[in-house]
Amino acid sequence: MNPATQIVHPNVAEWDPFRALSVPIYQTVSFAQESAVGSGPYDYTRSGNPTRAALESHVAYLEGATRAFAFASGMAAITAVTRLEAAGRRVIAGDDLYGGSYRLLSRVLAPCGVAVEYLPTSELSAVEQALRTGPALVLVETPSNPRLCITDLAALAAMVHAHGGLLAVDNSLLSPYLQRPLAHGADIVVHSATKALSGHGDVTAGIVAVRDAKLGEQVAFVQNAEGAALSPFESWLLLRGVRTLALRQDRQELSARRVADFLMAHPRVRQVYYPGLPTHPGHQVHRRQARGDGCVVSFETGCAEHSKRLVERARLFTISVSFGTISSLISLPWAMSHASIPLDARRARGLGEDLVRLSVGIEDADDLIADLAQALEEG
Ligand SMILES: *Cc1c(COP(=O)(O)O)cnc(C)c1O
Repeated sequence: MNPATQIVHPNVAEWDPFRALSVPIYQTVSFAQESAVGSGPYDYTRSGNPTRAALESHVAYLEGATRAFAFASGMAAITAVTRLEAAGRRVIAGDDLYGGSYRLLSRVLAPCGVAVEYLPTSELSAVEQALRTGPALVLVETPSNPRLCITDLAALAAMVHAHGGLLAVDNSLLSPYLQRPLAHGADIVVHSATKALSGHGDVTAGIVAVRDAKLGEQVAFVQNAEGAALSPFESWLLLRGVRTLALRQDRQELSARRVADFLMAHPRVRQVYYPGLPTHPGHQVHRRQARGDGCVVSFETGCAEHSKRLVERARLFTISVSFGTISSLISLPWAMSHASIPLDARRARGLGEDLVRLSVGIEDADDLIADLAQALEEG
């Protein structure tokens, strides 16, 4: 079956006695046991809940994973990954990482004694050199955001495995509809399901998906021990969102492509970042490992003041952090989503004050382009 078909059909009716087509919300803390010593498949919602299990098994299916786990946020999911044995001593992360992940690694993990390095993963030579000194958990986003840098997943996975490490890929931007990192050799996929997977901007959630059963046991243990699992209601909302994933992402991508072309031709735009552009660095690698390009388009105007004004002049694009939602968003990553990265680190990774990030929604593309045209005009 094609991905767009798989996405619509979670396996719910099979185990539900009433064959509900939408998974019921099991809004309960505990489950009655048959006897004092024997319990059924569920006993306590922190440890397991049928609504959450339906979501988890559906996302595992879509990612081609053995198991998936739903967490209370993307950061809770990434935190769970940092609890794995392989991450206990050393983490190598991409240098265009989400601001919150950077904060977690630098200010929570590093003070606990974990060695944390940030390297440009689109150029694998630096990673190779670092791995020569020992194994690590390697965490990357491809495309990263806001600059949409591309990492060759198959090449990186081979390199990480040759040195006894694990590769985790943050797939929040593309989702399993457009990219399945496990198929390219990654060991772990993490999501801020808050973004593309949910798509409606109404649920905060995270996913960890793994291929190896032993790794799955470790994540299950951490999820239960730390108690950051997704609640039944949020699990239901997320599962509902996932079912329209293909429809949303197809539409968003068509419009994002048109927005990118419009920006490329605009005299006030200096640089456009979109993995679908043939001129985008890593475009060929991206085409090999992903079925699509997603909804995030970033650009530079060369003038911080002009970028700030245009963000504020946009009307259809709402000024907001986050991406992947059905309504279009606009942001200045420097001052918003990536502000938690220290100033010099932001400068070093080429994250300019004039960089504008767009998340293209499902509105009419002509209307979106007209809005950007008026916003870009010098007032
Ligand atoms: C938003 C985001 C996160 C964090 O997810 P939350 O759901 O906000 O906790 C992690 N990684 C990426 C790439 C993100 O965009």
